[in-house]
Amino acid sequence: MRSRQRMFAAVMRLLLKCLRLGRRRRFKLVRQVERLWHYGHLCLRSLLYNSFTNGDVVLDSLFEPVYWLVDHVTRWFGVVFVALVIGLTSSIVAIVYICLLPLILQTYTPAWICWHLAYGHWNLIMIVFHYYMAITTSPGHPPQAKNDLTGVSICRKCIAPKPARTHHCSICNRCVLKMDHHCPWLNNCVGHYNHRYFFSFCFFMTMGCIYCSISGWEMFRDAYAAIETYYQTPPPTFSFRQRAFHKSVVYLWVLCSSVALALGALTLWHAALITRGETSIERHINRKERQRLQKKGKVFRNPYSYGSWDNWKVFLGVDVPRCGRRGHHWPCPVTRWPAQHTFAKRI
Ligand SMILES: [Zn+2]
Ligand SMILES: [Zn+2]
Repeated sequence: MRSRQRMFAAVMRLLLKCLRLGRRRRFKLVRQVERLWHYGHLCLRSLLYNSFTNGDVVLDSLFEPVYWLVDHVTRWFGVVFVALVIGLTSSIVAIVYICLLPLILQTYTPAWICWHLAYGHWNLIMIVFHYYMAITTSPGHPPQAKNDLTGVSICRKCIAPKPARTHHCSICNRCVLKMDHHCPWLNNCVGHYNHRYFFSFCFFMTMGCIYCSISGWEMFRDAYAAIETYYQTPPPTFSFRQRAFHKSVVYLWVLCSSVALALGALTLWHAALITRGETSIERHINRKERQRLQKKGKVFRNPYSYGSWDNWKVFLGVDVPRCGRRGHHWPCPVTRWPAQHTFAKRI
């Protein structure tokens, strides 16, 4: 009996010893894993350390694949959008020549005919010229050569100095001088050298659409009334040519009036920005700055605004005494570059 008890006690001691040993080993393993984890974490932090890293940077990095996709799709669709603008504008011009012009020549007085011919063609030339210039003119990029520019910031993407009012376009993958926005309808950035062409194109396109909508209103009403009778019984006896005419006139009026409304609103918005001497990007930056200073009881002043009237003169490049330039740049087609002084801060 006693020997059994002794044996049992010996087994229990052995078991306890084994357990203690196992616990020690487990702790050792946990400590090793913990040490490895800390070491890996430290390595990762050392590799990714950046004093500018904040929540926005992390969010930007996470969304980087989405931005990449959007940029590439926009770049590719730019060609489609340009083809669409050219195709739709050509179709409207063709309808005006085939449907609207013969009617004007038959029914209007010689004075009205002259006015329609003069205004219509001048507006068309303006649209074509400014669109061509807006898509072919480079918006302007910072100089690549080494320079002694002081007080300029560095673009994080180009790792190159960028002058004031310059922003990086992720679609063009370049820094753009006085960048306003990247326009898919132009497949080009709107910046310092083509901002005027872009605005002029929007303005003349709106004017052209308004002109077509007003001139074609009577024809649209008649054509629409005729189309409504197509489904009556007995059906009216319209020839294929007449049906094509009705549908073309309705297409012209609906497209022109829709574009006049949408593009007119955009043109007004850009006109308001030009009056304030700021670009679309600066509008957001300046609003934030205005709110920040307002909280401190200070008033924000746009350093690139010369006053409403002078801002327009600078934009159109007409007779600004401060920059010593004279001449009419608008509303006739002009290919001269805008003044460089728009980068200089107002004194
Ligand atoms: Zn850049
Ligand atoms: Zn761009």
